[in-house]
Amino acid sequence: MDGVERLDGGPRSAVVVGAGVVGLSAAWFLQERGVEVTVVDRTGVAAGASWGNAGWIAPGLAIPLNEPSVLRYGLRAVLDPAAPLHVPLTADPKLWSFLVRFAAHCRWPSWTRAVRANLPLNEESVEAYDVLTANGVEALTVDAPITAAFTSAGRARGLLRELERLAAAGQQVDHVRLSTADLREHAPLASSAITAGVRVDGQRFVDPGEFVRALGRAVVARGASLRTLEAVDVRAGRGCATVVAKDGDRISADAVVLATGAWLPGLAAATGVRTAVRAGRGYSFTVPVREPVPGPIYLPEVRVACTPYQGGLRVAGTMEFRGPDAPPDEARVDAIVASARPLLDGVSWEDRTDVWVGPRPVTPDGRALIGATRLPGVYVAGGHGMWGLAQGPVTGRLLAEQITTGKQPAALREFDPLR
Ligand SMILES: Cc1cc2nc3c(=O)[nH]c(=O)nc-3n(C[C@H](O)[C@H](O)[C@H](O)COP(=O)(O)OP(=O)(O)OC[C@H]3O[C@@H](n4cnc5c(N)ncnc54)[C@H](O)[C@@H]3O)c2cc1C
Repeated sequence: MDGVERLDGGPRSAVVVGAGVVGLSAAWFLQERGVEVTVVDRTGVAAGASWGNAGWIAPGLAIPLNEPSVLRYGLRAVLDPAAPLHVPLTADPKLWSFLVRFAAHCRWPSWTRAVRANLPLNEESVEAYDVLTANGVEALTVDAPITAAFTSAGRARGLLRELERLAAAGQQVDHVRLSTADLREHAPLASSAITAGVRVDGQRFVDPGEFVRALGRAVVARGASLRTLEAVDVRAGRGCATVVAKDGDRISADAVVLATGAWLPGLAAATGVRTAVRAGRGYSFTVPVREPVPGPIYLPEVRVACTPYQGGLRVAGTMEFRGPDAPPDEARVDAIVASARPLLDGVSWEDRTDVWVGPRPVTPDGRALIGATRLPGVYVAGGHGMWGLAQGPVTGRLLAEQITTGKQPAALREFDPLR
């Protein structure tokens, strides 16, 4: 693609690094605007966080992580390895500097700013999925409420207060408190320990691996080449941007998009992006269940998300701040099982399959990084933390607009990577 001529000043070609939901969405929407795309990934499609996540397209629950109560969890986490948030006592100074910055943002003003920033993404996330599935991405998205289940009405009040705070910040979320009978209907596996519920309406879920693979197939069917290579550097100059691969290969284009999820820091270092991204690793696994589950179940007290998945239930949880490539820790999976077991009946916990760990790309201020960098023609898209699956397609759509028009959409101002 070297030396592609620009006829109208807009980019004609782009290399997208990272074939997760964010990178492939950027690729798809760039193609929509006539850009010729090459996608590269060091492993392949959906090799990172985009595979084993909970699959919720849940704009109503896309709550920024940096809320003040997380600090209490953080302190507990240092003392209790079974806590839903796990911060290993390592000597990694970069991790501690990230956590100090993250803690500084665990205040209501920062949290509210992140909620307001996310509003346009949350408002359009479902529609952006519809655009993809109406135009050749052959995967199912399922409309379903998310049922939050609690051991007491008092515990449910925590979520209700959070939804009120979201509403005060501008994000109205349709929800209703459930009677015990309604609760059993929506969450038939709820054990007798569950006595209160909140139904969050207007949400969706997908099989995330299947969706992202379908998106990858659509991008290739529209003419993209998909290459397996590890990018180690990115450069700009002479009217093009260049990705340098580990084996020395180089690919140049008018634009480069770095969408490498929790691995963003390595490549972004050269681009002037200073906001750190760290891996908040989560685990998931699939378990057989005694009866079909109609929709996702959220267990906020133990921070576990459950989703109907291939005839069983995908169970996901934990936030562990370790390197994105560190080996999985079985103890984290045992902690999820131990915390969820008393709350659900009819689950064959011992027969779990697909045990998986993946890195959420977390920023300290609860806002993603989407837009231009200091290197001409080089953009980043990532750092969506807990909500990158839901926000991936709308991110791709807005970034493609910025790349092809040269104008930052108003919706992306708060996500400026050079903030
Ligand atoms: C347990 C769990 C549950 C979750 N549940 C939800 C949910 O229900 N809803 C939701 O919205 N979000 C959820 N998330 C978050 C969501 O999964 C992530 O935010 C999202 O997948 C991030 O997508 P991405 O494309 O930015 O990164 P990734 O999917 O991680 O993709 C990055 C890609 O970059 C590639 N790569 C990395 N470095 C290089 C390199 N140097 N050269 C070439 N390629 C490279 C990797 O191989 C990978 O394929 C969950 C996450 C976890 C862990």
